[in-house]
Amino acid sequence: MKETLDFYTRSLDCVHCGLCLEACPTYGVLGLETDSPRGRIYLMRALAEGRVEDPEAIRPHLDQCLDCRACETACPSGVRYGRILETVKSDLEEKRPKRGAKAALTRFLLAKVVAHQGRLRAFFRFARFAERIGLRSLARAVGLLPKSMDALVPHVPSAADRRPIRGTFRPDGPSRGRVALFTGCVMEQVFGKINAQTRDLLVQNGFEVVAPDAQGCCGALLIHNGQEREARNLAQRNVAAFAGFDHVITNSAGCGAALREYGDLLGTAEAEDLGQRCVDVTAFLAEKGLTATPARREVTVAYDAPCHLCHAQGVRTAPTDLLAQVPGLRLAPNPRAEDCCGSAGIYNLLQPGIAGEIGRRKAEDLAATGAELVATGNPGCMMQIGAHLRACGSTQRVVHPVELLLPNDSK
Ligand code: SF4
Ligand code: SF4
Repeated sequence: MKETLDFYTRSLDCVHCGLCLEACPTYGVLGLETDSPRGRIYLMRALAEGRVEDPEAIRPHLDQCLDCRACETACPSGVRYGRILETVKSDLEEKRPKRGAKAALTRFLLAKVVAHQGRLRAFFRFARFAERIGLRSLARAVGLLPKSMDALVPHVPSAADRRPIRGTFRPDGPSRGRVALFTGCVMEQVFGKINAQTRDLLVQNGFEVVAPDAQGCCGALLIHNGQEREARNLAQRNVAAFAGFDHVITNSAGCGAALREYGDLLGTAEAEDLGQRCVDVTAFLAEKGLTATPARREVTVAYDAPCHLCHAQGVRTAPTDLLAQVPGLRLAPNPRAEDCCGSAGIYNLLQPGIAGEIGRRKAEDLAATGAELVATGNPGCMMQIGAHLRACGSTQRVVHPVELLLPNDSK
C-alpha cells in the first residue's frame, strides 16, 4: 500500500539515537521507551514489517502520543515523526477502527458535528441554552460531568461573541495589502471575540481582510484521531475557498499547522500552494511590521508557545518580538515555554491522566514566572493552561497575544 510504503521510507530516517527522549512529554511522565518517540517509531515499523500482528498491542502507545512534535525539533536526523504517526493512525483507523463506545462517539462527534460548522453552531446554541437553565450544574452534581472535565470545558460565550466573521473589511488608512482570515471552528465558537480582534488588528495595521464564506473546519482534530479520509474533504473545501489570496492568516496554531500541511494530506500542487501561503498572525505582523502602536499596558506577561506554532510551524520569536513592542509591557522569562501543556486537540479529554500531569507541571512553571498574564496563541492551550492555573490556585489570566497588540481597548 502506497501510504504504508511512504511511512516506511520516512521512518527509516530514525537512527535510534534517543536524542528526542528528553523532549517528549509522555516519556517525561511515564518513563517508558514504548511511550517515547524512538519507541513508537520502532513499534510502528514492527507493525509495518509484520513483526507485530495485532495492532491493538501498539495502539495504546500511539493514542498516548500528544502529536506535539517536540521530538521533531529535537531530532538531528529530520525525522518527520508527526507525519509518520498520522499516516499509521489513519491506516489503522481505515482497516481496524478502534472499538468501544468512547471511540465510536469521538469518531461520530468529530466527523458529524465538529466538521460541519452549521451543526457545530447548533451544538453551541444548545450548550449555551443548557448552561442558562442549569443543566450543566445538574450534570456536574449528578456526576455526568466529571469535575476535571468541567474545568476544561469553558462556558459558552453569548451569541454576539459567537457570530461568524464573514465578508470584506476595509483597512484603516492606505492599504498595505489584502489578506484572507481563517476563522476556525472552536476558535469561532469559544473565542469568537479573538477572531474579531484579529480582524481589527489587521485592519488597524493597514490590511484589507477577507473572511470567505466558503471556508470550513481545518480538519486537524480529525487528522489527530486518524480520520484522514474525512479531513481530506474539509481540506479540499478550504483549498478552493482560499484560492487567489497571497496570505491566509490564522490565529490558532493547531489550525495553522494543519493548513500548512495540506500538501501532505492531499498530495496536490494546489494544497501545497495553500500551505505555503498560510501564516500565523504573529509571524505575518512581525514580518510586515506594526504601523499602529499597541495601547500601553502596564503588565507582566509570560509567553507560552503552542507546540503547533513552535514545533510544527517553526514560529518561535515573532510573538515575543511583537509583545516587546507593547508600551509598558514586561516579558517574564519562561524557560520551558516550548514544553507541551497537555491540551493537544482533544487529548486532554481522551487521556485525562497524562494530560492532567503535563498540565499541572506547565501551570507550576508558569506560576513560577510571577507574570500577571500568560499569552499563548491556540484555543486548546488557552483552555488547558487556564484550567490548570486555576487548579493550582494561580490568579494568572490567559490571553491570546493578539489581545495585547490592539492599538486601543475599545474593540
Ligand atoms: S509527538 Fe510529542 S508526545 Fe508524541 S512522541 Fe513526539 S514528543 Fe512524544
Ligand atoms: S526520532 Fe530522531 S532523535 Fe529520536 S531516536 Fe530517531 S533519529 Fe534519534
